[in-house]
Amino acid sequence: MAERILLIEDEPGIADFIKRGLIYEGYRVDVAYDGQQGLEMARDTPPDFVILDWMLPGLDGLEVCKRLRAASDVPILMLTAKEDVQDRVQGLDAGADDYLVKPFAFDELVARIRALFRRAAPASQPEVLRFADLTLDTGTHRAQRGDRFIDLTAKEYELLELFMRNPRRVLTRELIFDRVWSYDFGGESNIIEVYVRYLRQKTEEHGEPRLVHTVRGVGYVLRED
Ligand code: CA
Repeated sequence: MAERILLIEDEPGIADFIKRGLIYEGYRVDVAYDGQQGLEMARDTPPDFVILDWMLPGLDGLEVCKRLRAASDVPILMLTAKEDVQDRVQGLDAGADDYLVKPFAFDELVARIRALFRRAAPASQPEVLRFADLTLDTGTHRAQRGDRFIDLTAKEYELLELFMRNPRRVLTRELIFDRVWSYDFGGESNIIEVYVRYLRQKTEEHGEPRLVHTVRGVGYVLRED
């Protein structure tokens, strides 16, 4: 059965655009046009996922987020025009799981939704991702290169998972930072380089060929030579 997404968005044009796109992606979508209606719909038919606009008439998104979170663990993705760090922190404090700043690409929205669904049910549906002789178990968070097991720290795991889910695709530094570090404030500007180096050390420890390659001036790509 398709997952049911509750979209709480007061701008009909945006709501319609998102709804049609998500239905096309195979989700069931209900739309609420203000916070009160959204809370009522969530109470009457608990959704699997909530997309919540920040700027709503009446109850604002932050308040709706708090109330939803008080009642359930449903994943909540907030949409906001605000890019201010303080606002993001407030939203996280209110219980949001992720953010998307308007305007956004629809593909990005879908990617975030998938990621949150995975995070919401990590134990029930572990997968083993494979690329070349490298595997990554999303249940145990352990990597394996050939027969050799590799222990990863939490951030190394997240970074490698991002690469493994996007093989042969060039990932920009911005995208990597946004996916893996977006809410860890105070991160150093060279943090991606540092963690790519850790990953390379661990995955190439026995002289195995490099899989995480630098794309100069752009980012990184997981590919075979
Ligand atoms: Ca709005």
